[in-house]
Amino acid sequence: MSTKPITPLVDVEAADPLSAANGFAGQDILSVSQFNRDNMTSIFRKSHEMRELIERQGSSDLLLGKILTCLFYEPSTRTSASFIAAMERLGGSVIPITQGVQFSSVSKGETLADTIRTLEQYSDVIVLRHPDVGSAKVAADYSNVPVINAGDGAGEHPTQALLDLFTIQEELGAIDGLKIAMVGDLRYGRTVHSLTKLLTQYDVSLRFVSPEILRLPLVIMNEVKDAGLNVRETHDVADVIENADVLYVTRVQKERFSDLSQYEEVKGHYEITTELMERAKAKMVVMHPLPRVGEIHYNVDSDPRAAYFRQVKNGMYVRMALLAAVLGKG
Ligand code: ASP
Repeated sequence: MSTKPITPLVDVEAADPLSAANGFAGQDILSVSQFNRDNMTSIFRKSHEMRELIERQGSSDLLLGKILTCLFYEPSTRTSASFIAAMERLGGSVIPITQGVQFSSVSKGETLADTIRTLEQYSDVIVLRHPDVGSAKVAADYSNVPVINAGDGAGEHPTQALLDLFTIQEELGAIDGLKIAMVGDLRYGRTVHSLTKLLTQYDVSLRFVSPEILRLPLVIMNEVKDAGLNVRETHDVADVIENADVLYVTRVQKERFSDLSQYEEVKGHYEITTELMERAKAKMVVMHPLPRVGEIHYNVDSDPRAAYFRQVKNGMYVRMALLAAVLGKG
């Protein structure tokens, strides 16, 4: 939506964190830079309420009559399905353009701007995934209904970062004071970029574990350092396993490599095994934005510390809270 500022919050909401989610009514959600501790507290409280609602009664009619368009130019399983489930569990409806962009007018050469200007005629909110960094902002500039960024290339994935943080809070009770290790493709992994940026608002220690060519981009590392966080980089997951409270494991993003021989060199670099888990804290949690392609062995799944499928469900609760917020029902 071109007419509004990206950062939606005003001081009055900061003073009342419980109503801060309402500050998102009619707003786009494009970047984690729109979030502060107050409005995250509010979104997480709403997400928790959504969880209780689903456990109690399965659905509600909060968004009855509202229509979400899910427009995905890149593959997705969880993000698209959880937005669809979130909308439908709140009584709303969905136009899903998630598998067949190649069968839509996009394949005839229609621009993103025209596709958005068309779809906004039918919709109250648009969720967009697109391979280009900055595409969600472009779409928002052309749309009169809120646009939610569901991943713009190697850029950001703000709703994933919120669900990641919500999961840490639900699993461990608090975020401040934790030692959080991110493992894998820190260069192209947009979930790592967004989560790291959000974590600069908390009092956490960060450990970044990656092969040399997949290190965290300098610009994000500088944000972490400017925030004064305790931070260290290493190539070896063994250096962090004993002290970590959260092990955030990621897939090497094959689709972002221009030279596939480089991908072949680094894929399979890290594998979380039951042997490695024996060295971790009893209360640590293992997370992964999924899909995994071998980074976490299947026999780790039965370990109570394996939180990645609970993380998937939390994604639906957080997206319910966000949809309600942007549609003015937060
Ligand atoms: N599902 C996540 C994303 O869309 C992580 C991944 O694809 O590896 O960024």
